[in-house]
Amino acid sequence: MDKYDVIVMGGGPGGYLAAERLAHAGKKVALAEKSALGGTCLNVGCIPTKTLLNSAKLYVHAREGAKFGVSAENVRYDWKAMQAWKDEVVSKLVGAIGLTEKKLGVDVIAAEAKLLGPGRVQIGEKVYDTEHVIVATGSLPVMPPIPGCRGNPKVVDSTGLLSVPEMPKRLCVIGGGVIGVEFASLFSALGAEVEVVEMLDEIVPFMDREAAPILRRGLKSVTFNLGCKVEKIEGATVFYRKKDGSEAKSEADLVLMAVGRKPNVDGWGAKEAGLDVSPKGVAVDDRMRTNLPKVWAVGDVTGRSLLAHTAYRMAEVAAANIVDGEAAAARGEVLRWDAIPWAVYSIPEAAGIGLTQQEAERRGIEVKTSSVPLRVSGRFAAENGFAAPGTAKLIAEAATGRIIGVHIVGAYASETIWGASAVIEQELRVSDLRQLVFPHPTVSEAIREAAWAMKD
Ligand SMILES: Cc1cc2nc3c(=O)[nH]c(=O)nc-3n(C[C@H](O)[C@H](O)[C@H](O)COP(=O)(O)OP(=O)(O)OC[C@H]3O[C@@H](n4cnc5c(N)ncnc54)[C@H](O)[C@@H]3O)c2cc1C
Repeated sequence: MDKYDVIVMGGGPGGYLAAERLAHAGKKVALAEKSALGGTCLNVGCIPTKTLLNSAKLYVHAREGAKFGVSAENVRYDWKAMQAWKDEVVSKLVGAIGLTEKKLGVDVIAAEAKLLGPGRVQIGEKVYDTEHVIVATGSLPVMPPIPGCRGNPKVVDSTGLLSVPEMPKRLCVIGGGVIGVEFASLFSALGAEVEVVEMLDEIVPFMDREAAPILRRGLKSVTFNLGCKVEKIEGATVFYRKKDGSEAKSEADLVLMAVGRKPNVDGWGAKEAGLDVSPKGVAVDDRMRTNLPKVWAVGDVTGRSLLAHTAYRMAEVAAANIVDGEAAAARGEVLRWDAIPWAVYSIPEAAGIGLTQQEAERRGIEVKTSSVPLRVSGRFAAENGFAAPGTAKLIAEAATGRIIGVHIVGAYASETIWGASAVIEQELRVSDLRQLVFPHPTVSEAIREAAWAMKD
């Protein structure tokens, strides 16, 4: 019987990075993946969506370039060519992961894994002994029990929509979270009529309430029906009830169900092995330990933050704690839940980190805030125009000036936000931020302006 130091169940961002970090540290590692290396993120999530969104952005820029002195005639897109480029990007990146694992000596086993208990994992037909197990089985899309939804070929999830052979003329998106908004932005940029039906009063529920409407208004060709509850779907017609009780419908050619994802906790032995698990995910502490000795869980399956970069960080924390034990935790190898950035890659973008003003107030933290429009940055104004939507908002603890939240809407937000991660991780104060030198002209300078706009 083969014995490993660590068996990783699932080859998405959480699993493959954990395997890489552990192999790099000299551990004998097996990585079991039942479908494709790279998981949701690489195959049907982050990378394919951003590849298509980039093509859509090029199309929009080409169409709208006249105001910047550049005109192009007959601007068109080719959905099939966009798909082909997306597929090429995905397959090359998936191939690169396979090569990296091989180079590091990770045994990649292409089969389903089952947790038999601490130290024992079945992969395919074979049972393996191992010192540690890392569970990284990811998440799955939710198909709610709305009448007319399941088994309806006109209702697709994000994976189905990514490779739809023909562009729909009209798309109805159910759910105004990150995935719904990104797809709404993509298809509306390409000329589809897009309606979003969202049950809550605002899109992207975890966004700061000042920033979210700016993003929504920035998505000017999308129709948002907020506070509306879907009651049934017939073909591609979505029937919903508005907040005032009246009935309405959205007639489309295709419906995207984007009401969320759920941790993948079933079918791989979690309950039978005695793991502390619920539909909300596998319970972990800030070192990624589960209730079972030497069984760790990382990524979406924990249900804590369904983002690839959270999965990456969790993977590194678990790996460091496996390799160095208490010493790892003592040097800070723990998950700091309030220091996880997020981004919405729509056109325009949005990104943030830390607490929203509403969350800070809910926790009883007295805050001071400042917001500036992104056009305070000369580069933003030059590249986007003076009327383009954009904001940078800082939230600081009133008593200490420590920055606890940064929220940006507008171009480059997803690229700028990592700097704010450093600010939050290092617990910098507004006065510290004012002393940093920002390159000029950059959109990130708006953050510096927001720091100076904050009252002392
Ligand atoms: C449309 C879309 C867009 C997204 N965009 C972004 C984005 O821009 N940025 C971002 O941060 N996040 C994004 N996400 C979320 C991101 O994809 C996930 O957070 C990330 O993939 C989680 O990584 P993971 O390793 O936990 O799980 P996954 O990537 O889901 O990987 C889990 C893997 O485990 C395998 N597996 C499951 N069970 C078993 C088993 N029993 N045995 C063997 N293998 C098994 C699965 O086949 C899968 O490959 C997006 C998601 C979607 C759907």
